[in-house]
Amino acid sequence: MRSSGSAVSGTFTKIFASGALTLILSGFQPVVAQAAAPVPVVGWCGTQEMWAQKPAAMRAAAAGYCDVGPCDVPATRNSWIPSGSTTITVFKVYFNVFRNDDGSNPACTAADVDTQMAWLNRDFLPHRIQFEMTGMRFVNASRFRTITIASEFDAMKSLYAVKADSQCNIFVVAVNVGGKVYSYATFPWDSDALSPYGGIVMNRTQFPPYDNHTATHEMGHCLGLWHTFHGVSEVGQCDACYEFAGTPSDVTGDFCSDIPPTPLSYACGNPGGTDPCSGFSWGNTDFTNYMGYGSCSNHFTSQQSGRMSCWSYDRLQAWMSGVRFISDGVFGPAPLTVSFQGQTAQQATSWKWDFHDGDSSLLQNPTHTFNAGNYDVTLSIESAGGPFTVTKPQYIWAHADTFKVANVLGNAGKKTRVDISIKNSLPLTRILIPFTWAGTYSVAFDTVLNAGTRTAGWTVPPPVQVDAFNKRRTYEINFAAPGGPGTFLPPGEGPILSVYLWPVGSMPQGASTPVQVLAYGYQTPTFEAQPGIYYGGSVAGSIKICLAGDVNNDGSGPDIADLTAMIDFLFIGGTVPPVLSQSDVDGSKGIDISDVTALISYMFMGGPKLTCVIY
Ligand SMILES: [Zn+2]
Repeated sequence: MRSSGSAVSGTFTKIFASGALTLILSGFQPVVAQAAAPVPVVGWCGTQEMWAQKPAAMRAAAAGYCDVGPCDVPATRNSWIPSGSTTITVFKVYFNVFRNDDGSNPACTAADVDTQMAWLNRDFLPHRIQFEMTGMRFVNASRFRTITIASEFDAMKSLYAVKADSQCNIFVVAVNVGGKVYSYATFPWDSDALSPYGGIVMNRTQFPPYDNHTATHEMGHCLGLWHTFHGVSEVGQCDACYEFAGTPSDVTGDFCSDIPPTPLSYACGNPGGTDPCSGFSWGNTDFTNYMGYGSCSNHFTSQQSGRMSCWSYDRLQAWMSGVRFISDGVFGPAPLTVSFQGQTAQQATSWKWDFHDGDSSLLQNPTHTFNAGNYDVTLSIESAGGPFTVTKPQYIWAHADTFKVANVLGNAGKKTRVDISIKNSLPLTRILIPFTWAGTYSVAFDTVLNAGTRTAGWTVPPPVQVDAFNKRRTYEINFAAPGGPGTFLPPGEGPILSVYLWPVGSMPQGASTPVQVLAYGYQTPTFEAQPGIYYGGSVAGSIKICLAGDVNNDGSGPDIADLTAMIDFLFIGGTVPPVLSQSDVDGSKGIDISDVTALISYMFMGGPKLTCVIY
């Protein structure tokens, strides 16, 4: 438990409920030693009433002795002190944030939860402990938004704890019980630790943005730490569990000899004064320890670190993230080679990776090469603690994307549509399309549209850049912008933009002019996916002025070879003319005898000039 300001904690009240409270409030004045008579152990850190839940016989048997567990043994504790290379243990945490019945007045925001997660991970990283948020939710329940009666804590937890046997539930509410404002946690040795009644209750004003380290303190309790002042202010005065000034103890108080005995103090400094039991001055204390109530806490000691690891593995393995992985990259051009590292706090007997591209591996740390695409990655282990699996959706982003401009037929002096296509292997959030229609022949720009293309439904805003002199424009489509049919363009291939251009009327039949997606100035053809931007290949296209009567599409004509090709096709089963527009010289949308007639008329009889109909 951690009180705010100068309020006295609930624990404190309980321990010193009969008389001593006034004394403590008045400022840690020396009291007359009571050690002459046997003094029973009267309480534990009130983080939760583990002690009270023990059978009466056990309490009676322990009276006068300090209860110990496996991790209270100094050698055991020390064997768990992590080093910089100790595997990081990851705990799953789940946040329940309470607000009013109508959804108003949340105890904190989602951003505050993110901030708290960041502080927890920062504070615990030196101790090789990290936290993974499995989820957070807002709970609409005015009854618990502000808790004023202690029994409401358990009522709240029994109704709202989520999978308490496999993750640490953190409840964010306002607490004001009998004028006391506090947060509290449940010790790992508490019989409730893995039940709905475990976890942490965070008082709103001890949570970001007001306070970043109270959750660290409460998590310290959850993982097996006592208050730094436990041996002085939370046990019977001068009793068997009392930690005397000048005698830091491994087996009383907070069970850490690297933390000097201290009375409870809110100061960012030594408490001053003298231990009434030993007569020694308190001297230098660890007033910046997270497990004190000091206002400038910033660390755990190495023995605390050992206790946390030890108690965690003794009692809290069910909260540990079973298996997880990291890799040296997730995003890049295909083929993309990625080195993976499997991690677990369990004793794994087998590893299995599924790369979701048809391939798998049984190594702990495999390397895999991905073709273009966006892939989930799954890692599963078998262990004594059971099977565990983790999937990271859309984890790998290997790109090999291209722009392509169509080669189209047009007629001189007529508006001609040229489609720009992309082939994208990744879901795209944005695309930047600089293109040019500059060439030997004069071509005028008309407009761009995306109706009927893959981007139909999204808005094509005005061009981000226009260079009329050099016949260049750049358009951007933001698929993540509000109002579109989705927040990304799915992988696929096909037109995304139709550009309408006017080839000059004097452009001869058979001539062509280029249309290209091309970088110019600061405009670069760009794809953007969730992990970042990348650049793709580009295939140029063109407008070719249709050469009417070039039946065999050899670029010249119409001539005898074209007439022969048409007659072969129509009457003796010859090859289908490759370009209908060039062969359908009468515009009938088919090749028939009247096209032969028109061809002969033009070639040999001075008939009318042939034209193409562009379909
Ligand atoms: Zn506490």
